[in-house]
Amino acid sequence: MATRALVSGAGGFIGHHLVKHLVQKGYVVRGVDIKSPEYEPSAAANFELLDLRHLENALIATRGVAEVYHLGADMGGIGYITTSHADIARNNMLINANMLEAARLNGANRFLFSSSACIYPQYLQTLADVTPLKEEDAYPADPEDGYGWEKLFMEKLCHYYREDYHLETRIVRFHNVYGPLGTYDGGKEKAPAAICRKVALAADGGEVELWGDGEQTRSFMYVEDCVEGIFRIMRSDYPLPLNLGTDELVTINQLADLVASAAGKRIVKRHDLSGPQGVRGRNSDNTKLREVVNWEPRTPLREGLPPTYRWIESQLRKAGRIPEPVPSRI
Ligand code: NAD
Repeated sequence: MATRALVSGAGGFIGHHLVKHLVQKGYVVRGVDIKSPEYEPSAAANFELLDLRHLENALIATRGVAEVYHLGADMGGIGYITTSHADIARNNMLINANMLEAARLNGANRFLFSSSACIYPQYLQTLADVTPLKEEDAYPADPEDGYGWEKLFMEKLCHYYREDYHLETRIVRFHNVYGPLGTYDGGKEKAPAAICRKVALAADGGEVELWGDGEQTRSFMYVEDCVEGIFRIMRSDYPLPLNLGTDELVTINQLADLVASAAGKRIVKRHDLSGPQGVRGRNSDNTKLREVVNWEPRTPLREGLPPTYRWIESQLRKAGRIPEPVPSRI
């Protein structure tokens, strides 16, 4: 019989892709979110609108499923997470605690939590030329305010539920995920999507604004790699936190150049030094991931950015924000 799974956050970027992936693998999937997917219908067998900050809704969401993929969270890009500490921390603490307790009460076999590279100590991320972060670097703790603390505590809570209630938990620390069908506007978008939007809206040779001096570094993972990694980690027998990211380190300036090249445009970068830029440098050490699942994300930015750019550009065109080229008269 097909495995029944729940994806929370199925109306969001990664959750939506994960639902498709699980359905392709033959799972019967229930998707849950407070909103429907914005850009295409969900592939889930059923999709329910539920606010998981309430335990009774988490109990409805987790009924009759063997596997819980918990991705639902109040989150956004660096602009949002640095200005909404109280909302993010409260909403996610409620959602996370409810989802674990509901999964336990309803007898789920496995529970995967989407943690984040934002749990890593800020004191290890002060240089652009950063040493890739290993899982054990998380302590002594000094995570991103609000969002990072709440994720780090949920990692602990998963551990306690495994110890006390024998719930099989998996903890995945995502490093900057990008790809088509993700938020690209409105304040909750991440750097790759924001830069794709800015480049798409700029004229050839035009200006594109970047936050900070652009020399801050990150690694970025294509969403198809992310869902494949989630699937593999859920199947593994490894209960401790695992990085899921690439170790292709780029500066934000280089990221903008790669987007411009995907767009076939020349751009002039303008740096807004007052904009939030997060930690100075961050990269993923995948040694443990390779050991556990014998695999790691492989899509380089030069392959993942073109489809991402094309999708965002097509959305902006549909919305009438990029004028269609006027056919020239002969
Ligand atoms: P997303 O914002 O697109 O998806 C999260 C979904 O959770 C949204 O659709 C949102 O409506 C839903 N949600 C929020 N509050 C809810 C509530 N009260 N009840 C039910 N649903 C609610 O974000 P994403 O990029 O798809 O991220 C998925 C998960 O991965 C999140 O837990 C996030 O913290 C984690 N993560 C993402 C990244 C990344 O780069 N995208 C990096 C690290 C960690």
